[in-house]
Amino acid sequence: MAIGYNRTTPAPTGGQVLGAHPAPSTSSTPVIDVRNVFRIYESAAGYFTALRGVSLQVMRGEFLCIMGPSGSGKSTLMNTLGCLDTPTSGTYLLEGLDVSTLSDDELAELRATRLGFVFQSFNLLPRATVLRNVMLPLTYTDIPKSERTKRAVRALTSVGLPPEYFDHYSNELSGGQMQRVAIARALVNDPAVILADEPTGNLDSATGEMVLKTFVRLREAGKTIVLITHDPEVCAWGDRTMHIRDGRLLSDEEERAVVEAHGGTGRGRT
Ligand code: ADP
Ligand code: MG
Repeated sequence: MAIGYNRTTPAPTGGQVLGAHPAPSTSSTPVIDVRNVFRIYESAAGYFTALRGVSLQVMRGEFLCIMGPSGSGKSTLMNTLGCLDTPTSGTYLLEGLDVSTLSDDELAELRATRLGFVFQSFNLLPRATVLRNVMLPLTYTDIPKSERTKRAVRALTSVGLPPEYFDHYSNELSGGQMQRVAIARALVNDPAVILADEPTGNLDSATGEMVLKTFVRLREAGKTIVLITHDPEVCAWGDRTMHIRDGRLLSDEEERAVVEAHGGTGRGRT
């Protein structure tokens, strides 16, 4: 199955799972290009507009943090970026490709090959080894087993998990180790974008810092990272922060203006 443009996924070379990936478009094309997206939920209670004209561009190698309180639309935005949900209106171009033109199968392929997901709750298989968890996204590919193992080992090495843990069951690991395994699993397909929803939400601050350092290293290796959080300290690790409020995205400056207009009590930021 081929998606829209001619893409081949080369095997990582030279022991580098995080190597450069040939982009289908020029380096000045945003990896993520969201234009005036609305998402209106329809339920028995009526209509609810969770995203109100969201526009967002993220360039290759950028580490963007999106911060907002509960109910502001973070998960809705993440599901949109992750091609798990479709905007009611507006467009979303991922690596220059309009995702609204894709079939369900093509979207599934896009998610499996171009996007890596990291969740607050790790979402590992507890009774599978670390290595098997990381190899999982490669299950339905035609990559031979020996190559799958090699790629999983590279991904685990790139997130700094010592080899003695590779054969452990994932439920024998600490929270920080589990999240690093989950990041390795998100990386094993060499995706363009890593989408992380509150990845440090279940970790103490020292362990969370270790995980954030892993994201910084990935960003230095050219990965594009979008991380959602409600913690301003987490945002300090990214290149740029956008704020989301009632389904609208605001830059740092716009957010400050809103906070000042509310007498400095905008959202209890210190
Ligand atoms: P966050 O992740 O920031 O907490 P969400 O994106 O989950 O916010 O939700 C944004 C708003 O949309 C909330 O008010 C929520 O109640 C509403 N919402 C989310 N999903 C649905 C749905 N399936 N049907 C109706 N309303 C929804
Ligand atoms: Mg949420």
